Amino acid sequence: MVFKCQEDSFLKEFTSTVVKCEETKEPVVEYGKTSQFEGYQVVLDNTILFPAGGGQPHDIGWLNDVEVVQVLRKGEEALHFTKQPLEVGAEVKQRVDWSRRFDHMQQHSGQHLLSAILENEHNLRTTSWWLGADESYVELESTSVSEDAVRRAEARCNELIQAATPVTVKFYQANDPDLEEAHTRGLPKDCMDTIRMICIENVDKNMCCGTHVSNLSQLQVIKLLGTEPGKKGKTNLKFLVGNRVTNTMQRMLDREKALTALLKNEPNKHEELVQKLQKNLKVTNKNLQNVLSELAQFEIDRIKSEKPKFVFMFKKEATPEFNRAVSKGLENEGLFLFLASEEPDKPKEGQIMIQGPEEHCNALGQQITELLKGKGAFKNGKFQGKAGDLGGINKCRKLIEDYFKNL
Ligand SMILES: [Zn+2]
Repeated sequence: MVFKCQEDSFLKEFTSTVVKCEETKEPVVEYGKTSQFEGYQVVLDNTILFPAGGGQPHDIGWLNDVEVVQVLRKGEEALHFTKQPLEVGAEVKQRVDWSRRFDHMQQHSGQHLLSAILENEHNLRTTSWWLGADESYVELESTSVSEDAVRRAEARCNELIQAATPVTVKFYQANDPDLEEAHTRGLPKDCMDTIRMICIENVDKNMCCGTHVSNLSQLQVIKLLGTEPGKKGKTNLKFLVGNRVTNTMQRMLDREKALTALLKNEPNKHEELVQKLQKNLKVTNKNLQNVLSELAQFEIDRIKSEKPKFVFMFKKEATPEFNRAVSKGLENEGLFLFLASEEPDKPKEGQIMIQGPEEHCNALGQQITELLKGKGAFKNGKFQGKAGDLGGINKCRKLIEDYFKNL
């Protein structure tokens, strides 16, 4: 069956009759993400809501005021998924979510154009494609695609868009000899009962069940985003068409504006400035390491000369290297040592280290780890692990002080 949306892809409203309404628990799939659903599957005498097929996602819309969350094709029928039931025989007004549908039309017709140019002019065959929530891609039968081919294909597609090349839909009988020059490019044959051909004038003829623009100028522009390795022997070429290009451009501009404010300089200086910052950070970190390792030695010498009963050291900025150096430097002194530091990006969390005579570790270890929500274990007389919450650090100091006062 050819649905109304395939006859006229620009119809936004349509009146139809409810033919069937059955309960369902079939899941809803949204751009590849599956979610549970409980509701109804409604069949109408005809529909302007496109059921998913040919790589194009389903439409969403309304039947009167009842929301349609998914449309699937099962044989000759289009199943409309709704939360509320509709009475069989009732007349309903269909409305399609046009911004979503037109976006799908732009991406889908854009894919036909791109695939045709890549095949005709670069000998790169499309084996499948994906229309995603943000980006789409064509899967090409090649292990690599040159940057030059990508650049030239993009320019050629935009040339045909600027020329307002017409796009028409033609219907054929299965034995029509004209069919031989068309192809499906290995795309799913899920809607091949009526042979429907999408023709881009002088460029492409392709069997397809999707909804398409009537003129390439409606695509506005196509932008190729580059390639990624695909399945074995394949390369995915990512693309955006029409409104997605302007929306993406806006997001990029917003990010650039934020960076300009942070870096206090123009966009053409951003790269240079970030490189400079990274270099400075590297030098600063190296200097910090040197200072901390000198400080560790200084602390070790001080503690050795003072000979305290215990050491409690909480240095927020201490690195794991600093803590390890102090612990190693004091491991033969026979004193109880507690070290703590903050995680640089999560100040509530931190690293802790406990070492010393077994009797003290046994007496204090468990209470300390409980106070600091510590995760880890004693190994060879040392505890090294994470503190889930440094909020208890003062209680921890008090605990250790009291313990040694009462010894
Ligand atoms: Zn198609």
